Amino acid sequence: MKKETLCVQAGYVPENGESRLPPIVQSTTFKYDTSEDMGELFDLKASGYFYTRLQNPTSDYVAAKIAALEGGTAGMLTSSGQAANLFAVFNIAGCGDHVIASTAIYGGTYNLFNVTMRRMGIDFTFVDPDCSDEELEAAFKPNTKAVFGETIANPSLVVFDIERFANAAHAHGVPLIIDNTFATPINCRPFEFGCDIVTHSTTKYMDGHDAQVGGAIVDSGNFDWMAHADKFPGLTTPDESYHGITYVEQFGNGGAYITKCVAQLMRDLGSTPAPMNAYLLNLGLESLAVRMKRHCENGQKVAEFLSQHDKIAWVNYPGLEGNKYYDRAKKYMPNGTCGVVSFGVKGGRKAAEAFMKQLKVAIIATHVADAHTCVLHPASSTHRQLSDEELVAAGVGPDLVRLSVGIENADDIIADLAQALESV
Ligand SMILES: *Cc1c(COP(=O)(O)O)cnc(C)c1O
Repeated sequence: MKKETLCVQAGYVPENGESRLPPIVQSTTFKYDTSEDMGELFDLKASGYFYTRLQNPTSDYVAAKIAALEGGTAGMLTSSGQAANLFAVFNIAGCGDHVIASTAIYGGTYNLFNVTMRRMGIDFTFVDPDCSDEELEAAFKPNTKAVFGETIANPSLVVFDIERFANAAHAHGVPLIIDNTFATPINCRPFEFGCDIVTHSTTKYMDGHDAQVGGAIVDSGNFDWMAHADKFPGLTTPDESYHGITYVEQFGNGGAYITKCVAQLMRDLGSTPAPMNAYLLNLGLESLAVRMKRHCENGQKVAEFLSQHDKIAWVNYPGLEGNKYYDRAKKYMPNGTCGVVSFGVKGGRKAAEAFMKQLKVAIIATHVADAHTCVLHPASSTHRQLSDEELVAAGVGPDLVRLSVGIENADDIIADLAQALESV
């Protein structure tokens, strides 16, 4: 089935007389007739539900839909995008291991890696996504376990060269993990370009309505763990905390990674989504293909309007001809990138603040990538503690405005921007 159909129909398929929408199984626990029945579940010999911290039917239906959209073999939901990235990396890298990550990633992920996961004993090397082959090669160490990047980086809108990084990762016997939040599988399926594992903050376009915070992980099933068994003992040798099962032997390349992630990390860290949130996410997913098309159309119109306006200093949007990533975006996302546009207002910080005060359709919010057009001035909010010099060094100049173009009528969004610019 095509992506538009998967958005609506994948995951939950009702039987005769069952509810059309997946039921919200808002229950912590599940009942069994005998202890033996339950024992089979605890040994991972039978599949089923016993406690919602590990698995819940509502969440599983929605995870299956996301896995189908990405073209993967298995998927799981987490309670946030942060938890998805933590789990995706920690599932294969532990204390004493090393991971290579792109510098062009979401600030929250950068902090997670560079501060919190370093405290867990994992070493990170951050590489410029446009670095030379020599620099990329030099980043690999004998204990490297994964490479990590973002399809379209939040907020810099750098487009990641997935194929190049997949080839480099595979040459060193490790998987490539991609955070595909901004592109969504509607605009890019990283597995088609060699990526092995995909993560999402479902909080953004997938939900699309500001209704829930959530995350997802999907495995392509393509990475051959046994071929690099010494690097990934957690998947290729017996797990004593699960009665000695070896994940790859029992679940194959298609199921081992996600089963281990649920069985160990969900069990021990418990970043479980609420069934109600999974249900809300599913509603958002049903219209994802339609919404992404509109986000891209509106984003393109807004970027073109801004780039021709005499009060605008610069515009960054990968869909604009002349953008540094225009050709790469056309290769990986021929149907469009996303609805996020960043730009500078002439006159710097003061002009940006004055401009934003006049906006009426675009609301000021610390959010991106949903139906409602929203706008953020990082210099006076998320990056407030930095001086103007530090802001420039961080790639978030004092004049930078991040605009997340929603699915309203583009004429109304543009008219709003025009009247606000007039008053600057
Ligand atoms: C927002 C975001 C995250 C973090 O997700 P939460 O759902 O807020 O925890 C991770 N990656 C990207 C690209 C994001 O935009």
